[in-house]
Amino acid sequence: HAAPDPAVLTPALDLLKRVWGYGAFRGVQAQIVQTVAQGGNAMVLMPTGGGKSLCYQVPSLLRPGVGIVVSPLIALMKDQVDTLRGLGVRAAYLNSTLSLDGVREVEAALLAGELDLLYVAPERLLLPRTLDLLDRAPVALFAVDEAHCVSQWGHDFRPEYQGLTVLPERFPEVPRMALTATADDRTRADILRVLDLGGAPQFVSSFDRPNIQYRVGQKDSPKTQLLDFIRAEHAGDAGIVYCLSRKSVEETARWLQAQGLDAVAYHAGLPPRERTHAQDRFLNEEGLVVVATVAFGMGIDKPNVRFVAHLDLPKSMEGYYQETGRAGRDGLPSTAWMVYGLADVVNVRRMLASSDAPEEVKRVEAGKLDALLTFCETAACRREVLLAYFGEEYHGPCGNCDTCLNPPQVRDMTREAQMALSAAIRTGNRFGAAHLTDVLLGRATEKVVSMNHHTLPTFGVGAAHDEKTWRGVLRQLVSLGFLAAGEHHGLSATGKARSLLKGETTLTLRADTLMPRASRRAEKQ
Ligand code: ADP
Ligand code: ZN
Repeated sequence: HAAPDPAVLTPALDLLKRVWGYGAFRGVQAQIVQTVAQGGNAMVLMPTGGGKSLCYQVPSLLRPGVGIVVSPLIALMKDQVDTLRGLGVRAAYLNSTLSLDGVREVEAALLAGELDLLYVAPERLLLPRTLDLLDRAPVALFAVDEAHCVSQWGHDFRPEYQGLTVLPERFPEVPRMALTATADDRTRADILRVLDLGGAPQFVSSFDRPNIQYRVGQKDSPKTQLLDFIRAEHAGDAGIVYCLSRKSVEETARWLQAQGLDAVAYHAGLPPRERTHAQDRFLNEEGLVVVATVAFGMGIDKPNVRFVAHLDLPKSMEGYYQETGRAGRDGLPSTAWMVYGLADVVNVRRMLASSDAPEEVKRVEAGKLDALLTFCETAACRREVLLAYFGEEYHGPCGNCDTCLNPPQVRDMTREAQMALSAAIRTGNRFGAAHLTDVLLGRATEKVVSMNHHTLPTFGVGAAHDEKTWRGVLRQLVSLGFLAAGEHHGLSATGKARSLLKGETTLTLRADTLMPRASRRAEKQ
């Protein structure tokens, strides 16, 4: 990266103070601004809340012409533009929500050189009409926001984004920036290819969010656990609660309301007016809890979100990081809280397996979920595991995650794991956790007897433990890939299980989850 150049940085800082009222650039912002202001390309990888917007806004104002910002977040463009106008920046947007007159007005302003920044939806940018317009207008730079959308490896693939390869082809002399908060190696390679950024400097910021406390626990009565958490630590705070389905979003929101919390539901199936209303309330009120599907939050810039809670597992580590990253953008202490259980692990695994995606994509997705589950099951510092996934070396203990604050006991559970695996195998690799638990505990239920499973050598071998322990062992075995979830939630031993059964590998599992609830409570006090 180039040495600091006062000829660029001095006017850039002036602008930062005059327009935004900020005293200094943060981290790599200055380097990025300088690179692009001087006409260079840049790849920017910065966590959510890291300050990506200024990286293209400032150079857009420094360079002659208009900065074109490509963003998939149509719903947010108006807010972004209103905010910029409030600061005195000449900003506008082009997307499908504008009337024909509205479009003409923006186009005229563009051609007249009366704009500093123009936000455009990708499908609008790719229209021949828009591209012709850009041929005739002075363009300061192209900033492709949420650039991971070019890649089908990412979690948010948008086919239109692949058309953006027109930018380097048609406007080779205009600086190009790609910005994203989430990009693994494959996604990064796709971004570089589509936008032809091979030789461009890459600016990667640390993904650590030190003010976020990561906590992952066992689901047992999720709504009550959530309520206890909010009441104990975040009463009156703004927060987001993520659920997988629209139905559970509505149920949870109603339940929280009934408990006297200020809560509102948000999902893509609600009428647009209701969604906008929920979003406006969340932005403008102090202590609202939004219960939402992942449809909520992309691009929402509320600095004082004090907690993000997950009542269901996200699909990937990227998803978890992005969703929890909406907490604590103001740098103040915040909590990322999640509970999950065996049924969740089985569900998400099956959802991924049954999708129509190509096999290769499914394999990658399964790998991302595995990484998340490893994070969930770890007895090591959560922050260390999280950052390692994003390629960052960090050595815990961080002192601000549940495993650092309350180090879990780990125990050699190889024998228990062998019992559970053999119960699955001997019953034909097709029964669910409840049935396997019955077999292990030696419960001669009607189903067990009708299947003749009470005559198996495995019947009752696990009677020394309780039901909760076996659920915990089975969950960890599914999470870690020793058992696979198939049709009707049936669990089957995987190839990986063999070495464990033969005693070639041993298995250390978290023991804290295996204790009865009462003693866990007692231990904490
Ligand atoms: P991102 O797009 O990376 O998620 P934003 O660009 O929305 O992040 O910035 C997040 C928050 O940080 C915003 O409220 C923004 O105003 C603030 N911010 C960014 N850069 C600076 C800076 N240099 N000084 C002060 N605040 C900043
Ligand atoms: Zn830690």
